[in-house]
Amino acid sequence: MKSFSLQMATQKLIIITAPSGAGKTSITHYLLHKYPQLSFSVSAATRKPRADEQNGVDYYFISPEEFQHNIEKEAFIEWEMVYEGKYYGTLKSELQRIWNESKIPVLDIDVQGAIHVRKQFPETSLSIFIDPPSIEELKKRLEQRKTESLESMQTRLNKAEYELSFKEHFDKVIVNDDLKKACNEAGSAIKEFLGWQEEVG
Ligand code: 5GP
Repeated sequence: MKSFSLQMATQKLIIITAPSGAGKTSITHYLLHKYPQLSFSVSAATRKPRADEQNGVDYYFISPEEFQHNIEKEAFIEWEMVYEGKYYGTLKSELQRIWNESKIPVLDIDVQGAIHVRKQFPETSLSIFIDPPSIEELKKRLEQRKTESLESMQTRLNKAEYELSFKEHFDKVIVNDDLKKACNEAGSAIKEFLGWQEEVG
């Protein structure tokens, strides 16, 4: 089997990033459903699972101690404290698992994490930034989700404004003013990047 560093230089991956509430999770779900050759990269996270989330499917939910241990072992490609005291990271072993299945990992990660991954895979990654139509629309979407407290929503909105300033760092910016259109655009960008012919998708 190839070493991880060799795989890093040759294997492809897709990064989907956006401020929270911009629709990246819906677009990621669409892509994973439509293209079975893609596989979701399950991140490690120290936050508590939400009611509908499963360990090993949505995240590897781990303790802060275990997270720290993984940092020391250099087990992460990247990790971030995405929200105050809440750590999220992409495990090298997760990318390896997906490449070993001859699939392409899809990372749904925050903007700073995406910038780090992009730097490590300059030739072999496609990075897509999902742009919300406006901050007002983003606020509306976060309110509709009803998973956030008022405080957490304000934190996410403040962070979103900052993150929007980084969009030009990415290979492709897709405005999500119409989910179906945004999904199709993301699908086309991926097909082009992977050199797939029409019949594959
Ligand atoms: P949530 O708590 O809503 O599931 O996710 C919060 C944010 O963390 C989202 O923007 C999500 O994309 C991001 N995220 C999830 N996994 C990772 C990861 O491994 N690394 C980084 N940097 N961000 C992540």
